[in-house]
Amino acid sequence: MRRMLCLSLSTSVPALLVIMGVTLAMPAAIPRAHADSASCTAAPPPWMDTTKTPDQRADALIPCMTLDEKITMMHGVSDTQGHTGYVPANTRLGIPAITFTDGPAGVRPNQGQTTALPAPAALAAAWDPRLAQQYGTVLGREAFDLGNDVIFAPMVNIVRVPQGGRNFETLGEDPYLTSQLGVADINGIQAQNVIANVKHYDANNQEDNRGTVSANVDQRTLREIYLPAFEAAVTRAHAGTVMAAYNKVNGVYSSENRDLLTTILKDQWGFQGWVLSDYGATHSTVPAANNGLDMELPTGQFFSDALKAAVQNGQVSMATIDEHVHRILRTMFAFGLFDRPAPGGTIDQQADGTIARDIAEQGTVLLKNDGALLPLDNGKLGSIAVIGPNAGQAMTGGGGSSHVNPFYAVSPLTGITNRAGASVKITYNDGSDPQAAAAAAKSSGVAVVFVGDQESEGIDRSSLELPGNQDQLIQAVAAANPHTIVVLNAGAPVLMPWLDQVQGVVQAWYPGEEDGNAIAAVLFGDVNPSGKLPVTFPKNAGDAPTSDPARYPGINGVAQYSEGVFAGYRYYDQNNIAPLFPFGYGLSYTTFGYSNLSVTTGGASAPYSATVGLDVTNTGQRAGADVAQLYLGIPATNVAEPPKQLKGFQKVLLAAGSDATRHLHPERARPILLGHAGQRLGRAARDVPGYGGQFVARPPAARQLRREPGQRAALRHHPGAEHRPAGDHDRGDDDVHQRQRLRVPERPAQPAHAERVERHRDVSHHLRLARRGAVGAGHLAGDDSG
Ligand code: BGC
Repeated sequence: MRRMLCLSLSTSVPALLVIMGVTLAMPAAIPRAHADSASCTAAPPPWMDTTKTPDQRADALIPCMTLDEKITMMHGVSDTQGHTGYVPANTRLGIPAITFTDGPAGVRPNQGQTTALPAPAALAAAWDPRLAQQYGTVLGREAFDLGNDVIFAPMVNIVRVPQGGRNFETLGEDPYLTSQLGVADINGIQAQNVIANVKHYDANNQEDNRGTVSANVDQRTLREIYLPAFEAAVTRAHAGTVMAAYNKVNGVYSSENRDLLTTILKDQWGFQGWVLSDYGATHSTVPAANNGLDMELPTGQFFSDALKAAVQNGQVSMATIDEHVHRILRTMFAFGLFDRPAPGGTIDQQADGTIARDIAEQGTVLLKNDGALLPLDNGKLGSIAVIGPNAGQAMTGGGGSSHVNPFYAVSPLTGITNRAGASVKITYNDGSDPQAAAAAAKSSGVAVVFVGDQESEGIDRSSLELPGNQDQLIQAVAAANPHTIVVLNAGAPVLMPWLDQVQGVVQAWYPGEEDGNAIAAVLFGDVNPSGKLPVTFPKNAGDAPTSDPARYPGINGVAQYSEGVFAGYRYYDQNNIAPLFPFGYGLSYTTFGYSNLSVTTGGASAPYSATVGLDVTNTGQRAGADVAQLYLGIPATNVAEPPKQLKGFQKVLLAAGSDATRHLHPERARPILLGHAGQRLGRAARDVPGYGGQFVARPPAARQLRREPGQRAALRHHPGAEHRPAGDHDRGDDDVHQRQRLRVPERPAQPAHAERVERHRDVSHHLRLARRGAVGAGHLAGDDSG
């Protein structure tokens, strides 16, 4: 049986120009409002005409607004309803309030209980845009049900500093992976009629000194590493809002940084939504208003009376104010805020919990499994010692604004006890006394130790070591029982001085409310682990790209991004540093083989595209999913290039013994490419023999494939490998969904849900009308979100 796996490399001309350092300007496309005061009192007012575009509706409304009314829309006020942010309604003109909530792992606790999804880092480890879309769906519908118009999610900052306090909230260290998943997450959110907020723009890569530090980054590095995920969020997912970060970029606060907010975001990318500031990240009135900030949150320290005075004394023009207000109103019209009932509903806990569990399972990464100790077989096991600070309580998330108050939480102890059944003796020890834990381990067949870190917004980790006595705990348990498995609840890399002493290691991130059920399913083999690391795990803290204090935390308020484009694995590759576990790494209970690498270049009509084909075979005894990863190396010119960069991936579920042909269309080619497709089977990705090949693609249609010594490579055309647009591969085949169909019961059609579907249908009707208009007029609601 053969099926196609397609990772696509396609280069649009603008993308190519940006890579080459030339920028392509797009008009800001803000039509000017024209005064027609007679219509201000018409009933119904012209801006309520849903056959008009969002731009036309905003144009009709703005001339009817006073300066005070405009300024009221440009900042938040404190809210008594528990929303994270609030802009009050204008009852005179019928402008609805705007309600905001955190955040990227679930809706903020001050609105009550919600679903604690696995941390975004766990989602990233699943390498599955379809799961990212489901993740966004849960965020969006719970935000809606709790009365919110906007959710502050996703966070698409790149992991630069391994000890960064918010790494658990990110989608990893690679711009391509982050872009693919961020786009899908936003599509999921915005399909629920909730506006996504992509954050934190830009280069917000550390928590220490986040409010003052300047990220000094060269233009190439910004374009290649720290901007692509925002660009994708804006140009492909049409995120409705962007959050300006706390930090400065090249000496200028993000919230008043003209290069970032106006030149790049609005002019070059054609962003149609509005920019709001992170909480307290606004530092001025005139520079912020004139350089592109549309809204100050949480309140109006700079964008209320001071802004009015600046308009009155001519420092900020009325045209500038109108443009900011136009952006806010246009987005509100496009998302139906004027036309639909206020958001609200009932959360379907069970359905959302099922999704949370699925994502936690799919994001779990098996790092070590000597002697095939896992999966555990409860038919053969007499006893298990369940040990450690994270065994008796679920790890539902990290600290700070992403924190969620979950509906329920299943601890690993509960999950394992339920799954193991009555025939297996479970001994629990909280690990506070390593010797007592060792005694429990000694008298059990297998010991599973649950340890972890506690990351939080606002502060970076002081080291990559597991906090407290956890390393000693693991060592004591491993000395007592050779069959020791460590489960890590860490949002990012930790050091593992005990790695050689334990038989198994599982990276489970912060798994959310379904923690115990998900880890039990993986440990007992109900789920075959298929997660891959979205970040590099270093052997030593000093190996990281940011181990120089001038880079991190910075000196005299400046963090020099002097590692340039060599972020994450690019740095380890470039400097020949072997990581403990490389980016993209993860084991399975089965094995996969790759064969028949092929490269087809695009021909005259698509000279900068190529298709890479390969056959993936499940060579083991169990069904399992593999993630085919395509890395490209660009031959060095006079600028240094990373040895390899992720440019395509696809997850494929295969029954034991079956195979599939996959076509990878890596994104963003240059006229000459050196391609490399490799399966991650070893510890250091670049050393992986697995399968590799090189190709050179030259326009218009020259094809060539060179063999690497000792490897077979063939160039052949796969029927059906026709060019697909960039980003299309995240909608490709559905074998991962076959797995979901098998594994996850359908969401029960409960009355509350059915009602909501009806209501959404209504809302969707209005939205479709609004969006049809928007599409005609601009890019705001290009309906990828479906
Ligand atoms: C965080 C944002 C968050 C905001 C509102 C800030 O401290 O950086 O990510 O959305 O607070 O809670």
